Amino acid sequence: MSDNLIRLSKSCIGDAEKRAVMGVLDREYLGMGSEVQQFEEVLSEFFGRPTVCVINGTAALHLSLQACGIGVGDEVLVPSLTYVASFQAISATGAKPVACDINEIYLIDCDDAEKRITKNTKAIMPVHYTGGVGNLDILYRFANKYNLRVIEDAAHALGTVYNSQRVGSFGDISCFSFDGIKNITSGEGGCIVTDDEAILKKARDARLLGVVKDTDKRYLGERSWDFDTTAQGWRFHMSNIMAAIGIEQLKRFPKFAKKRQQLAKQYDNLFSSHLNIHPVPRNYDTVVPHIYVVRIPGINNKSDIKKKLLQKGIMVGYHYQPNHWLNFFQDKKNAPLPITDNIFPELMSLPLHPELTKINVKYVASELIKLIS
Ligand SMILES: *Cc1c(COP(=O)(O)O)cnc(C)c1O
Repeated sequence: MSDNLIRLSKSCIGDAEKRAVMGVLDREYLGMGSEVQQFEEVLSEFFGRPTVCVINGTAALHLSLQACGIGVGDEVLVPSLTYVASFQAISATGAKPVACDINEIYLIDCDDAEKRITKNTKAIMPVHYTGGVGNLDILYRFANKYNLRVIEDAAHALGTVYNSQRVGSFGDISCFSFDGIKNITSGEGGCIVTDDEAILKKARDARLLGVVKDTDKRYLGERSWDFDTTAQGWRFHMSNIMAAIGIEQLKRFPKFAKKRQQLAKQYDNLFSSHLNIHPVPRNYDTVVPHIYVVRIPGINNKSDIKKKLLQKGIMVGYHYQPNHWLNFFQDKKNAPLPITDNIFPELMSLPLHPELTKINVKYVASELIKLIS
C-alpha cells in the first residue's frame, strides 16, 4: 500500500500495544487468562455492566442469541443494511434472519419490522449503523409489546451516548466488535454486555466449548479436568494476546473518539452547502462514528467515481450491500424493502480513522465534490 494513500480505515497501533503483546509472549501464557480477565474488568467499568469477551463481534452476537434460547424455527428481525456478520450470527443458531427496511436515519424501521412479525419472531437485532442509535425508547417499546429480546449490534457504536448513557450501559444485550478497524481493536475480538445473569453465565460457558465454569478456572491460571458440559459450546474465547492489545486501546479511546467526532463534523461542514451530497445525519456530540457515509442521490457511476478517487490516492467503500440481495439470505416470501433497495446504490463511505488529518478530510471532500459536480 502506498504511503500517501488515504485509507478508508485502519488500526492505530502504538508502542504501548506492542509492549503489552511482548509482555504476554514473555510470560508464555497465551490463551485465555489474566489479561482477558483484566480486559473484562476495564470494559465493565467503561460500560457500568458485566462484560464477556469473545473471539469477535460475530461470535458475541451468535452467543447472545443462543443464550436467549433462539434457534431452529425462530425468527429474528434485523435491518438488511448491515454487515453480513449480523445475518450469519442469526443463521448460525438455526434461526431465520428476517430482513427489515430502514428509516430516514438508516436504522431499522419499527413500523416496517412490525409488518414482518409472525408467531415465530423471538428477537430484534437493531444495528447502530455508523454509530447512531436513533430513538431506542421507541425500539424498546416495540420489543416489549411483542415480547422480543433485543440484541443490539453495537459494533459501530462504541462510545456513543444515548440519553446521557453510554450504549451498552442500558438495555437488554449489547454486542461490540474489536476487529482491526473498529473504534478500538484487540486484533480481532468482541464482547457481550448485559446485566442479565443467566445470559452472562451461558455465554461464559458457551465460549469455552460449554465446559461449565471453565472461565473461573482459567482466570486462576488453572484448567478444568473433571467437568460437565450442559449445552452446545464453541471455541469462541478471547486470547491473552488480544486482550493485552484491547486494554491499551481502551486507554487511548477518549482520544480516538474525539478525533473521529472532529473529523466527521468537519466532513459535515464541508458538505453542508453542497446540494447533492447528503451525509448520514448524526449528532457528533453524542455519536462516536465508526464510518462516515454520504448519500449522493441519482449517482449512477459509483464504481467509476471510486476508481477515480483511488487515482487521487483516496480509498472509499460501500457499507453495506443489503443482505436480502445475497443468495443465501434471499427470501421470496418477505415483502420488498424499497428504501434499502433505492438508497444503497447511492451510498459511499469516505475515509475515517483517528490518524486522518484535517488536511486529508478537506482534500477528500474537495475531490469528491469535483467529481460529482
Ligand atoms: C464489525 C461488525 C460486526 C462483527 O464484528 P467482527 O468482530 O468483525 O466479527 C457485526 N456487525 C457489524 C455491523 C459490524 O460492522
